[in-house]
Amino acid sequence: MIPYSRQSIEQCDIDAVVETLKGDFLTGGERVEAFEAALASYLGVQHVCVMNSATSALHVAYQIIGLKEEDEIITTPLTFAATSNTALQCGATPVFCDIKFDGNMNEKKVEALITPNTKAVVPMDFGGNPVEIDALRALCDAHHLFLIEDASHALGSEINGQKVGQKADMSIFSFHAIKPITTFEGGAIATNNTEFYEKAKLLRSHGIVKKTLWNSDMVLLGENYRLSDVACALGLSQLKRLDSFIEKRNAIAHAYDVAFAHTPYFTPIGIDNSKKSSHHLYPILLAKNLWCSKEEIFQALHVKGVGVQVHYKPIYQFSYYKERFGELYLPNTEDFYRAELSIPCHQGMSIEEAQYVIQSLLEVCESIKGCHR
Ligand SMILES: *Cc1c(COP(=O)(O)O)cnc(C)c1O
Repeated sequence: MIPYSRQSIEQCDIDAVVETLKGDFLTGGERVEAFEAALASYLGVQHVCVMNSATSALHVAYQIIGLKEEDEIITTPLTFAATSNTALQCGATPVFCDIKFDGNMNEKKVEALITPNTKAVVPMDFGGNPVEIDALRALCDAHHLFLIEDASHALGSEINGQKVGQKADMSIFSFHAIKPITTFEGGAIATNNTEFYEKAKLLRSHGIVKKTLWNSDMVLLGENYRLSDVACALGLSQLKRLDSFIEKRNAIAHAYDVAFAHTPYFTPIGIDNSKKSSHHLYPILLAKNLWCSKEEIFQALHVKGVGVQVHYKPIYQFSYYKERFGELYLPNTEDFYRAELSIPCHQGMSIEEAQYVIQSLLEVCESIKGCHR
């Protein structure tokens, strides 16, 4: 099976991990700060605080802005559940904003959702395609709201020549196995706000500060969300390879763009010239007459060894959310969910494998012929 995404681990990664395993510090050593410094320099931000997952990083970011009961965040329903789950954990309510047909939250529809309880706007760069961060920044500044970007897909993505992660108050990255780079599990907060950074470090480790000798103090209610030195050693090695990963994913995406330019069966999501995508995903949107056959297409592709996936079931459709917040229906999000398939795009794929995906996809769509109802 050619999976929709996959990690790439080479000897240099293994060596970095083994060297750290044999060293004095499995956790709490200097690999952690070295990885943070390397990330900050790559992203062009002042501070990075790494954690054991992006979910932890989101939770900490919400704690830093003091998110609590009665507060609302405006976010996208087309994301992984953690983006809004972690706001629920703080007692807050997620307000879902409809998306555009590139999968990103519609920045023009955010303002109408702002209430006196709104505390933050939380967009997500779908598949690595950067959100319109300048418009969102201006909106948040005008309404005195925090901007937290879930950039879990977008490490290495750029907009107007700037890396994603520079403009939000805090940007969240994920190093889960199949995200743009991996530390097995892992995540980070990137920020230019020194106060936020200091708080992030405290919350990551029980809110405890060392004093003199054995004496310590606990000043905030925190968690253990630390990332180990072994994981950071892998992260440092992976980060060196990130640009080559993106180049390879770009080559696969380009082959797809060319092959699919004129197919009647689906449309790829084009990346604007002002943007560069990490291509964490390569999403296609099936033509309307194929929506009813999506399960059949999905299964036929899996039989051919093409591991397509669907991103994402809208969060408000989960039963937990429906029971708490009632039914919601956002038309573009619904259509997107009916149309979307993520086809294999990762750095471990050869161009021959991409050709096989192209051929299989076109064959399957041709054989389905759409709905007759
Ligand atoms: C993967 C992902 C997360 C969660 O990342 P973890 O590191 O697995 O906790 C959050 N948001 C989005 C959009 C993701 O894709």
